[in-house]
Amino acid sequence: MSLLRFKMVDAAINHAAVEPNAPEGRPSDYFGEKVFNHAAMRKYLDKRTYALLSETMEKRTPLSREVADSVAAGMRQWALEHGADHYTHWFQPLTGGTAEKHDAFADPDGEGGVLEEFSGKLLVQQEPDASSFPNGGIRNTFEARGYSAWDPTSPAFIVDTTLCIPTVFIAYTGEALDYKVPLLRAVTAVDNAATEVCRYFDKNVQRVFSYLGWEQEYFLVDESLWAIRPDLVLTGRTLMGHESAKNQQLEDHYFGAIPARVMAFMKDLEYESLKLGIPVKTRHNEVAPNQFELAPVYEEVNLANDHNQLLMTIMDKIARRHHFRVLLHEKPFKGINGSGKHNNWSLGTDTGINLLGPGKTASENLQFITFLVNVISAVYKNNGLLKASIMSATNAHRLGANEAPPAIISTFLGSQVSAVLDKLEASRGDDAIRFDAKNVFKMSGISHIPTLLLDNTDRNRTSPFAFTGNRFEFRAVGSSDNCAEAMIVLNSVVAAELRDFKVAVDAKIEAGAKKEKAIYEVLKQKIKACKAIRFDGNGYSDEWKAEAARRGLDCETSTPLMIDHYLDKAAVKMFADLGVFSKVELEARAEVKWETYAKKIQIESRVLGDLTMNHIVPIASKYEAMLLDKVYKMSQLQGLNASADILLIKKIQDHTAAIQKMTDEMIEARKQANRIDDQRKKAIAYHDTVAVFLDEIRYHVDKLEEIVDDQIWPLPKYRELLFIR
Ligand code: ADP
Ligand code: MG
Repeated sequence: MSLLRFKMVDAAINHAAVEPNAPEGRPSDYFGEKVFNHAAMRKYLDKRTYALLSETMEKRTPLSREVADSVAAGMRQWALEHGADHYTHWFQPLTGGTAEKHDAFADPDGEGGVLEEFSGKLLVQQEPDASSFPNGGIRNTFEARGYSAWDPTSPAFIVDTTLCIPTVFIAYTGEALDYKVPLLRAVTAVDNAATEVCRYFDKNVQRVFSYLGWEQEYFLVDESLWAIRPDLVLTGRTLMGHESAKNQQLEDHYFGAIPARVMAFMKDLEYESLKLGIPVKTRHNEVAPNQFELAPVYEEVNLANDHNQLLMTIMDKIARRHHFRVLLHEKPFKGINGSGKHNNWSLGTDTGINLLGPGKTASENLQFITFLVNVISAVYKNNGLLKASIMSATNAHRLGANEAPPAIISTFLGSQVSAVLDKLEASRGDDAIRFDAKNVFKMSGISHIPTLLLDNTDRNRTSPFAFTGNRFEFRAVGSSDNCAEAMIVLNSVVAAELRDFKVAVDAKIEAGAKKEKAIYEVLKQKIKACKAIRFDGNGYSDEWKAEAARRGLDCETSTPLMIDHYLDKAAVKMFADLGVFSKVELEARAEVKWETYAKKIQIESRVLGDLTMNHIVPIASKYEAMLLDKVYKMSQLQGLNASADILLIKKIQDHTAAIQKMTDEMIEARKQANRIDDQRKKAIAYHDTVAVFLDEIRYHVDKLEEIVDDQIWPLPKYRELLFIR
């Protein structure tokens, strides 16, 4: 082991568990204590201000300047009393991650002292000097202003000593430069469309909410080992590393006992999350060694997404306290599972009905089937676009790698729901759908259909978009993603589908059909038309790839080409009709995605080049020289056979020569790609001509790792990185 590697492995082994912070009281005592929530508002705002703000939060009515001033005064008071001395507009630019610029509350009072200043104006709107956030050309350099504006539907919170105010981020010209604006627009679109459809069944429905329950997967590595892996530090994943003899093949990690150091980290993370109002609930080991998961209770999608963004930031901070680094990359280690962020999604009414769960009455069940069919139909028509929403340079490693859903979107419904749809399709079309007290599904003529359980137990883990009894689980989302991207597209396509559904049903009613019959008929058409998206088999198999292609599903695997879907004619029209994205905004987003893709591959390629030429080839040559010396000395004596060593020398020769040659070629490919101005073409060039070298070069490096004397190998090996003691 090289001396440095030895020291770091030694440090990793000897890192004792850090005592987690002791919670003050029970979760119910400290839950949300760092959030300006309803309890805090009631305490710090006068009655009228509180009533008006509540109305804004519920009904999304605009807030007047005068009310904003009162809210700001109360919020400031609360923040100061809770230890805050700074405030920031907290937003989600297209870089991924969150952005914040802190300002002190204290302002000179003009008389040599300071005053704690925070007006409604500062609360509601700011103009961050935001010229260096990605904007896809929306903001020309001469008009570099962006606005951040308060989103009162997501409450303010305190991190460390800073009051964070969730805001949207828009260009001077009004276009969205973040994830929150289009998410809020998509939520409104699906609310409007779904509410209209609900009124076929219940006139009392005023609003439909979109819910998200994310499950965040992540890896932990010891920080001393992380620090001497430049690939992990700079790209978030290992660009080389021979497989550990033992990894996940014994299946002994999933749900296994959580190591003490990790448990201490989790306790701290949960404590901090709960104080911030993130309703974390589940924690467990994941399939791969050092891989874990955390999931909260689901919430309204905008809030849930803010909470996920916040969680990812605090995870990183807390991990450092425990001498860990969190890896949110989708595929930090080759040969073992990568990480996703399952997005459990559903729609529910303000009357308390989950629209994606079987109900108690025939009408509720027809409503459930209506929403279910519209969702799968929307997913069918937009499977390429949905894939574009989750595709990235990093998630590309995970999808289709025999451990996660393939780069093909399909839906799993389970045998019972499938049977219901099949029967519906074949029925005369006016049978009532009923479930008895035990949720046994009944429909005249098909009484032999078995129980449709509320909780669908035959889960298919290989499906990228699975129905799980009362929600859909979009599993293809990447662990480092902003969930908003997938949620914007999903809510939009469902909104568009529900709109069309309403138009079709109304047309039939106008032509004289009874409401129920009209609904059945449109549903039957949809069930027939979207069959290709339903797949209950093994999504990891090669047969499925061939079958999916035959069914006409999008099977593209190149990320830059998938991004094109955002600019498909139908997508541009749909987003514009719904008011979610203008064409300019879509073009800007696609531009940012292409640019980000190329940059990520560029960085990986540079890091790999540095590592091979400065670390790997020199060390391999050193070992080779030792062997050459030995062989030479052996040749001076009679009767010794050096053939095994000579073979080894030849192998090292071959691998180092291949590495040197390909590294040169990769650098050349990069140079060519860098000359391209068009971002799309550049991304394609990076995908087709640069990224291909990463795996090829790695192959030879990993072979060398097996040959070269462990004593001089510089980088921590998988077997050291992957097992926290
Ligand atoms: P699993 O790992 O088996 O999929 P988990 O319990 O880890 O299940 O996560 C399930 C997630 O689904 C949780 O975040 C939970 O809050 C969420 N969830 C449950 N019901 C709904 C629903 N109706 N809508 C959205 N999310 C939901
Ligand atoms: Mg899940």
